[in-house]
Amino acid sequence: MSDTALSPADADDFRARCTAFLDEHSTGMHVDRGVGDRGAARMAISKKFQAALAQADLAGITFPTEYGGQGLSREHDRIWREEYAQYPDSTAELTISHGMCLPMLNEYGTHEQKAAYLADNIAARTVWCQMFSEPGAGSDVASLQTKAERDGDTWVINGQKVWTTLAHLSDYGIIVARTNPEVAKHAGISMFIVPMDAPGIEIRPIHQIDGGTHFNEVFFTDVSIPADNLLGELNNGWNMATAMLMYERVAIGTGTTSGITTDRCDQLIEVAKKNGKIADPVLRQKLMKLREMETTASLVRMRTRAELQAGKTPGPGGSLTKLIATNIGNLHRDLSLEIVGCESVAWGDPADASWQRNALTGLQMGIAGGTNEIQRNIIGDRVLGLPRDIAVDKGVPFKDLKVGTQRD
Ligand SMILES: Cc1cc2nc3c(=O)[nH]c(=O)nc-3n(C[C@H](O)[C@H](O)[C@H](O)COP(=O)(O)OP(=O)(O)OC[C@H]3O[C@@H](n4cnc5c(N)ncnc54)[C@H](O)[C@@H]3O)c2cc1C
Repeated sequence: MSDTALSPADADDFRARCTAFLDEHSTGMHVDRGVGDRGAARMAISKKFQAALAQADLAGITFPTEYGGQGLSREHDRIWREEYAQYPDSTAELTISHGMCLPMLNEYGTHEQKAAYLADNIAARTVWCQMFSEPGAGSDVASLQTKAERDGDTWVINGQKVWTTLAHLSDYGIIVARTNPEVAKHAGISMFIVPMDAPGIEIRPIHQIDGGTHFNEVFFTDVSIPADNLLGELNNGWNMATAMLMYERVAIGTGTTSGITTDRCDQLIEVAKKNGKIADPVLRQKLMKLREMETTASLVRMRTRAELQAGKTPGPGGSLTKLIATNIGNLHRDLSLEIVGCESVAWGDPADASWQRNALTGLQMGIAGGTNEIQRNIIGDRVLGLPRDIAVDKGVPFKDLKVGTQRD
């Protein structure tokens, strides 16, 4: 990545290239009526957009050219994001692949791993998922029981993951697994790259309340992967998982928008005007609350983006962005029920049911990527410097802990 300042003329040229591309290719994630698997259809839209972006030499702006990126500056990236935010999001299904897996591969991958995986990931020829959560290890991921054991030139993985977003549409996954049960729980974890079609992997989609199957259970039975698929250092998986979770919180909390945006409030004001509710003083007060939260969130988001563009790895502040985004989502959902009325819960045509989907799935954001309670704990401990929770399992070897199936 070059960081030479762009001249105003070069910046204008680059901006014009971005808008020309977006004018031609930006479609949004709309899926036509009658489409069976909406997730697969939305993924196809994201892949098509990203392939065109790669073709136009605009994909992976700050990533090195030798790994399929453009080797351009953070200033270029900022311009692209500003322009992208003016158009409907066309890459929503790549949030995990690009927002979390790509930066991890770039930061911790060896030259060989980057050469093998980065270009395909950037152009979305391959899609990646994140495999952290297990039935007994969600908020406390360090209690995970999926294990990876060394066998000659391979690692053999056994266990189960759950809530794996888009595993059924992914080519690779980044997994955390236990590599040493003899040491404390945070110390014996490692991170690996797993091809999702490896023998012994079974992916079972979970059926959701809105009719979708966005996430999955993933079972591993004697799954053998090459020793070279270890990502980062052996037994340093916890630090890497923390870094990846921070990328996740920034990806979820920062989204694709830039500048001060009050989209959600504006959308509800339009509906309230149409159905005659806009004069209600209590409702107006609630709408102003939403607008105020969106404005504050925009400012926090801009600061987080500026920090990332200055080369900082996302820190615990990512929890703040994510928590604010969740609170906005929750208030927007509650207000939409009030303003849209019966229509927001009456499920008619499933191909055209954005209010209903929002009512059913809007609350999931307060769980994905770490619950609100966990974000508040992180902000308390690591941003505000409050005393940490007592850790009763500190220093206890993982094999002696009463967690998951080790309770009996
Ligand atoms: C839409 C969605 C997508 C997801 N995608 C993925 C994915 O792609 N990959 C992946 O690995 N996981 C994914 N997850 C899983 C997600 O990370 C976990 O659900 C989340 O971390 C919570 O874990 P849990 O469900 O086991 O709840 P638990 O950890 O069992 O928590 C239950 C309740 O206890 C509270 N709690 C737990 N510990 C504390 C504490 N120390 N202090 C205060 N309160 C506490 C929690 O806040 C929660 O209310 C996804 C989840 C959702 C909803």
